[in-house]
Amino acid sequence: MPAVQPAFPRSTVLGYPRIGPRRELKRALEAYWDGRSGRAELDRVGAELRERTWRRLAELGLEGLPSNTFSLYDHVLDTAVLLGAVPERYRAAEDPYFAMARGTQGLAPLRMTKWFDTNYHYIVPEVGPETVFALDATKPLAELRQARALGFETRPVVLGPVTFLLLSERGAAALDRLDDVLGCYEELLGVLAAEGVAWVQLDEPALVADRTPGELAAVRRAYQRLGAVAARPGLFVAAAYGDLGEALPVLAATPVEAIGLDLVRGGLDGLAALADGLQAGSAPAEAGPLAGKTVVAGVVSGRDVWRTEPGRAAYALRVVREHAGDVAVGTSCSLLHVPYDLAAEPDLDPGLRARLAFAEQKVAEVVELARAAPEGEAAAPAPSAPAAPVAAGERGPYEVRAAAQAGRLRLPPLPTTTIGSFPQTGELRAARAALAAGTLSRDAYEEQVRAEIERAIRTQERLGLDVLVHGEPERNDMVQYFAEHLDGFAVTRNGWVQSYGSRCTRPPILHGDVSRPQPVTVRWARYARSLTNRPVKGMLTGPVTIVAWSFVRDDLPLRDVVFQVAEAVREEVRDLEAAGVPIIQVDEPALRELLPLRRAGQAGYLEWAVAAYRRATSGAGDATQIHTHLCYSDADQILSAIDALDADVTTIESARSGGRILGAVGAFGRGLGPGVYDIHSPRVPGAGEIEELLRETLKALPAGRVWVNPDCGLKTRTYEQVEAALAAMVTAARRLRAEP
Ligand code: GLN
Ligand code: ZN
Repeated sequence: MPAVQPAFPRSTVLGYPRIGPRRELKRALEAYWDGRSGRAELDRVGAELRERTWRRLAELGLEGLPSNTFSLYDHVLDTAVLLGAVPERYRAAEDPYFAMARGTQGLAPLRMTKWFDTNYHYIVPEVGPETVFALDATKPLAELRQARALGFETRPVVLGPVTFLLLSERGAAALDRLDDVLGCYEELLGVLAAEGVAWVQLDEPALVADRTPGELAAVRRAYQRLGAVAARPGLFVAAAYGDLGEALPVLAATPVEAIGLDLVRGGLDGLAALADGLQAGSAPAEAGPLAGKTVVAGVVSGRDVWRTEPGRAAYALRVVREHAGDVAVGTSCSLLHVPYDLAAEPDLDPGLRARLAFAEQKVAEVVELARAAPEGEAAAPAPSAPAAPVAAGERGPYEVRAAAQAGRLRLPPLPTTTIGSFPQTGELRAARAALAAGTLSRDAYEEQVRAEIERAIRTQERLGLDVLVHGEPERNDMVQYFAEHLDGFAVTRNGWVQSYGSRCTRPPILHGDVSRPQPVTVRWARYARSLTNRPVKGMLTGPVTIVAWSFVRDDLPLRDVVFQVAEAVREEVRDLEAAGVPIIQVDEPALRELLPLRRAGQAGYLEWAVAAYRRATSGAGDATQIHTHLCYSDADQILSAIDALDADVTTIESARSGGRILGAVGAFGRGLGPGVYDIHSPRVPGAGEIEELLRETLKALPAGRVWVNPDCGLKTRTYEQVEAALAAMVTAARRLRAEP
């Protein structure tokens, strides 16, 4: 540590979007992966995006600029590389980084899963007893030096050691490697100190979930040790996505100089309790446990698109000032989860615009709040209104439904199907863009959609699938499409946010009461049915997912909003059924996403989320088969809720995670489709490998209830890949059916 630690900047953000305001990084990555451009071009685009970000943040008046928040794919994967935790099998790959992220023809990628309760996905590091940690600080140093050359002093941002291990494949068990990992972090601090870096940000979002005493002890040990490094930058530990709870006093008792609190999701009670608990009576800032520390008050939300309510922020800042020695203003989490700039949305209704803030506007808010005088008349925010009653479902028991459906559908054992989407071809995307730009007529566009539906249906017939889908060519996205057709939503032109790697979504903005002015999917489902004699599955997105993947109004309790959407989905289910669609899939891949990170509140959430799903689907008669789909398998916490959805068939990701879900879902007494191959990777599976997997599946699940399908939708793949993979899948299912 320098003799005198420089003060923490008055204003900062924990991180910034990195995909580019026009998704420049996405284009550069895809060109590089397709071999259309070289590594130098990819690196040039990355450097340009970083430069643009620093310049913009500085122009907006932000004092504390972060660096190392850029990533070519994922910041958790970057951390694994930083620490040398690259599994042996990837080391010989042409590009080990992208081999871990995306796999190669011979090598499956590392697993990917959701980042806390957001829609961002990270690559899960593998940390075993044999992992040899060795610091490789190339990336943070390069970004630091690039910024310096441009005249900007930055604060490198690195995922902290405890969160890194907790997020790794073995979870808390990986903390057995804490001491070794800490060696790398100590070395990193030394390297950064030698560069003259004043502050480093270590992100520890895992601390906002419930942690065991052993895990809290790991936090203590980690930050005692890092605090004891003789020559190091100031340590800023940031805890996004929730309340630090019991981890706050632990961190406060270590030598870290600054702590970042998410004051949008919580934090104030913990702060007051910390002061009250350790001091008799109220703790003045000069004497409390945070007296010598900077609190970076995350009062501007990094994960919604609403302007910060100044009264609420001022109140939070005032409470923090009562307890902390020094207070800086920041965001609740990285701005990674919001679009770049409201200025890129000229079409939005002016009344709505006035309520919105994207990343640039949020930076301006941070700067503004940091400049404002500490006093401000501010009352505590009002508690939210009481919740709406939970409606009950009215379908018959499963046995009755199953019999009615079997009589109607007449499917073979091990029926084959897909999850809904077929490849979104370049022509289709171009047509949609032309429609939006007004250079293609709606009739011509719809003609193209019909042609795509026909192609998908013919492909499935030719390959021999049992339950067909129309392929979703009319949908840009499974949530946005519904938002465009329901009242109460606005959609953006350029409001992209990163989901994983080069993949982005454009979350709609749910700003008013939701209703369905007219049927949304029925005409396409009808068209698909008219093309074939085989059963076609209708395809809807569930109410929780529609809400989870939108930016949602904050003036109503979330559950009330979800029930409004459930009502709209229910009307659509009924209309599909009336149009003769025998199977309706209502996807709820985001069920886990809204789960509160702490146990308190989880059961309450799941109760209303399940009730909303059942409200959406229970208008269907017994002979209509309801499917649901989930994209991940580390679902232990919500398995009984998935079961309670009471779908006739549940398709779930399984192949990518080695079938570990099988035992758990076997207990559902209904149809199950554990995915037989990973669709995230361009790799095409062989029939033999799928057959093997199915054999394993049949050891765990009764044959009469097993469906055969991929892990997820096929829209990111090419027709060539899809045809080969589905042909292998059908072959495998047929071989097993033919066995006695
Ligand atoms: N029906 C959607 C599709 O196939 C489901 C996507 C998802 O689960 N995320 O694309
Ligand atoms: Zn999925």
